[in-house]
Amino acid sequence: VWSRKNELSLRDRSLVTVTALMAQGLVDSSFEFHLKSAKANGITKSEIAEFLTHAAFYAGWPKAWAAFRMAKEVWTQCDAEDEKQKHANSMVFPIGKPNDAYAQYFTGHSYLAPLSTEQVGIFNVTFEPSCRNNWHKHMADKGGGQILICVAGKGYYQEEGKSVRILMPGDTVNIAPGVKHWHGAAKDSWFSHLAVEVPGENPRTEWCEAVTDEEYNKAEVK
Ligand code: MN
Repeated sequence: VWSRKNELSLRDRSLVTVTALMAQGLVDSSFEFHLKSAKANGITKSEIAEFLTHAAFYAGWPKAWAAFRMAKEVWTQCDAEDEKQKHANSMVFPIGKPNDAYAQYFTGHSYLAPLSTEQVGIFNVTFEPSCRNNWHKHMADKGGGQILICVAGKGYYQEEGKSVRILMPGDTVNIAPGVKHWHGAAKDSWFSHLAVEVPGENPRTEWCEAVTDEEYNKAEVK
């Protein structure tokens, strides 16, 4: 019946389907699937809340509450994915894969896309809102250091003992070897920068303590 678009829109069909399943008290994975379809078919967060409230008077509140809980999860989860997708669309470089190898040195989720792994290493690093790396130093016996080139979103950079620098697309940060610092996203924005490894002898990163919420929250307080 879903293909009979002339008779009833997909949005209307989603509405009927969600209502019918909810009235039976179904909150399984098929209900979740139909909630996701309803969102894809254009039903907004406030609309689904209103539909479920309306249906609650006829199908019963216990069933509606169960459906509410699942709808809240679906719409919140989808909103987060939409924001990530919008961020991805705003830059030419890929977001890449979850940065699992370095997750222990980050607060929040980050993503890594290797752009160049020969001659000079260049990586696109993407931070979800509020995500930042630990305090760290780029070390080398000779040369070394790091250059950040901001490509999308809004982020922060801080060197020990200095105030936080706000980073926007096009900004460049030169980090001398041995300087303790951290970088990451602003609280309300995804952020991506290219991390350029400045060639040096025996390059390595010294990871230190995490940036506390107190330190992070000072970023935009004057
Ligand atoms: Mn760094």
